Amino acid sequence: MEKLQCPSCGSPDVQQVGYPEYKCTHCGTRFIPDQAPSGFVDVVLVGIPPGKDEIDAIKAVRQATYLGLAEAKRAVENLPAVVKQNVPVAEGERIKAALEKAGATASLKPA
Ligand SMILES: [Zn+2]
Repeated sequence: MEKLQCPSCGSPDVQQVGYPEYKCTHCGTRFIPDQAPSGFVDVVLVGIPPGKDEIDAIKAVRQATYLGLAEAKRAVENLPAVVKQNVPVAEGERIKAALEKAGATASLKPA
């Protein structure tokens, strides 16, 4: 990815504040880089719903990601785990939201 600049002040001092949003540390402007919406991301399962047993967690992960039982089980047992690779940003956001709705923690990283 090419070097990012703040669209307001041109400062290169920008930091990621969640994918795909960035914030300028100079003037505080938040922005989404042009290339991000068409990009691809990996969905990372970071945490599973607290207080639920493993079976419920696996079920929640399967519903959100359409993973097979074995893959979902492996992901839940080996956190953090990439549960979807190289999906469009919009699809990644949908899966992340579904996981979070189930109480899990997920993040997106550029594929
Ligand atoms: Zn700025």
